[in-house]
Amino acid sequence: MSLFADIENRILELRELINKYDNAYYTNAESLVTDREYDQLFSELKTLENNYPHLITSDSPTQRVGGSPQKEFEQVTHEFPMLSLSNTYSREEVQDFLNKVEKELGETVIEYCCELKIDGVAISLLYENGKFIKGATRGDGYTGDNITSNLKTIRSIPLSVSKSSQIMNFEVRGEAYMNIGDFEEINRLRALSGEKLYANPRNTTAGSLKLLDSKETAKRKINFFAYYLRADQKDLVSHSNSLEILTELGFIINPGYKICINIDEIFEFIDYWEGERNKLNFQIDGIVIKVNSFKQQNELGTVARAPKWAIAYKYETESAVTLLNDITLQIGRTGAVTPVAELEPVFLAGSTISRATLHNYDYIKELDIRIGDYVIIEKGGEVIPKVVKVDTSKRVDDLPEFVFPSLCPCNLKSELVRIEGEANHYCINPQCPSQIKRAIEHFASRDAMNIEGLGEKVIEQFIELGYLKNIADIYELKKYRNEILSLERWGEKSIDNLITAIEESKDRPLEKLLFGLGIRFVGAGASKILSKHFKSLNSLANAEKDELLKVHEIGSKMADSLFDFFRNEKYINIIERLANYGLNTKSIDNEELISNINITDKTFVFTGELKSMSRADVAKLIEKYGGKEVKTVSKNTNFVVVGDSPGSKYEKALKLGIPILDENSFLQLL
Ligand code: NAD
Repeated sequence: MSLFADIENRILELRELINKYDNAYYTNAESLVTDREYDQLFSELKTLENNYPHLITSDSPTQRVGGSPQKEFEQVTHEFPMLSLSNTYSREEVQDFLNKVEKELGETVIEYCCELKIDGVAISLLYENGKFIKGATRGDGYTGDNITSNLKTIRSIPLSVSKSSQIMNFEVRGEAYMNIGDFEEINRLRALSGEKLYANPRNTTAGSLKLLDSKETAKRKINFFAYYLRADQKDLVSHSNSLEILTELGFIINPGYKICINIDEIFEFIDYWEGERNKLNFQIDGIVIKVNSFKQQNELGTVARAPKWAIAYKYETESAVTLLNDITLQIGRTGAVTPVAELEPVFLAGSTISRATLHNYDYIKELDIRIGDYVIIEKGGEVIPKVVKVDTSKRVDDLPEFVFPSLCPCNLKSELVRIEGEANHYCINPQCPSQIKRAIEHFASRDAMNIEGLGEKVIEQFIELGYLKNIADIYELKKYRNEILSLERWGEKSIDNLITAIEESKDRPLEKLLFGLGIRFVGAGASKILSKHFKSLNSLANAEKDELLKVHEIGSKMADSLFDFFRNEKYINIIERLANYGLNTKSIDNEELISNINITDKTFVFTGELKSMSRADVAKLIEKYGGKEVKTVSKNTNFVVVGDSPGSKYEKALKLGIPILDENSFLQLL
């Protein structure tokens, strides 16, 4: 084969790979390779096409901006294309960029505005007569998805600007992103409900902006940094100038920008943020260097997919090498086994890492990871550390291959099996104490039944003593009061507090109980939706698959899981017991209730602490609207308002079937 044919083949191969990665990344918010690997392939393709321009085709990824708009959304045509940025990992290429700019402009003193490259999702916002009217994704650069209603849920996007503003018709572009803490909280909840964890804040932001239900987007706590303003304004002369005006208009810009006038200042900026990036509460993947003057930007113009007046310098993903001391197995409450790397502690990207996920056996085999190896770990775009490679040059001779254990690490030593078509091994023994422990921990956790005092260690101890075999046993713990009292570190007060906390948990709303049951794929959000829709555990348990599927946001995986759960003997028995112990299994639709009530002539009883106002103020308010506050619950009470740590009045209201309002619903009513 000739050299040309080889090159042409390689170009085709690269295009095919990049198209595949683009599709996963932009359509499914999923990364099949690291950004570094992707950028290397892209750069190889660009170099080949530069050297052999006759091989460039208009459909090459180098000629267009990444994604493509999606069918589910109305399309928005951008008046000015939303381009990507050329990027580099090399300082030499930053110098080359400056040389080219100087040459083309024929000037040597040029201002560059250097900014953080926020690792999020590019968004365009249109304002007419001072009002936010339309918001869209970048899409393919020319046409994006209309996601206005989702964007309206982002608090840092002003819905209108001040009436006295000089500029009323304009477009703002910027980056929607998620704070690392908020991202980790979403993943914590997903882990609790056995859902697959999101890879990183950027992909999670992209996915959240494309949800069909804006209420769900609102829960994701997305933020927005503005970095571009397009308006018909004569005094808008430079990029830094537009950042100032954006602030005046009420947008949030990232304050970490600087005007640099030579390469040394630019490198200083790059070095500074390379050191500081781990202290930020959001992710950046580099810095952007932009020619500051708009006149000069226009003179430079654009190439196919990026402006010639800007370049992104990307930071290398941080990694560390450390010793793999052991591989342990973590058993989830569904029995799924996750191998975990137990590492010699090492400092990486702002924190000390001693454990990292190894996903499953295939992953270990593919990377040939062995206990005793030196492994390379990365955080990169992913906040959760992972082992990405083995440093085989450091491997000692005869290090044995890792063989996946055939038995569960718990004391029953049950067999681990791999279900066909699944990547995970499972411990299928329902008596497995590790599974039971996780299930009870989940049930008692803050986001589920919130039973204070029933933590990991206590649960472990009670399982060992045989007091707990499943979640229903929690409600019989009081019969072991004397035995528990004789145990070390237990006193009258601690056991009584625990018993009270258990009793109080019986009144938790249905959605908490549902979440606590730990049904596979049913997270906190889905529990709320199901509880609102079916209104009682009984009707949910009896629902056929098609009824489940009719509920917005419930997909077939979740519907199957729910259907099987409520037909499994073991869980039927547990649910029956929970109902017999008096747990609340019904939900009251507060919104429906509120739209139908009038305070006049109604009686209200309050229990627990209200966060927003004192009891005296509440009484005055109710009186103002013609209602009355009473102290005791009777069958004549119209409403019971429940604050934090409610007392026995709450229980009584439940028993008598009196409508219950939480503080928010009560405020809404007022
Ligand atoms: P990009 O993310 O490298 O750069 C352009 C984007 O930077 C802009 O659209 C904007 O969203 C963002 N940005 C952040 N801060 C900015 C600022 N201050 N000023 C201007 N823009 C700012 O380019 P892209 O086209 O969005 O995506 C391409 C990149 O995505 C690739 O280089 C690669 O790293 C990644 N990618 C990865 C995969 C994968 O499979 N891992 C697949 C496709 C793309």
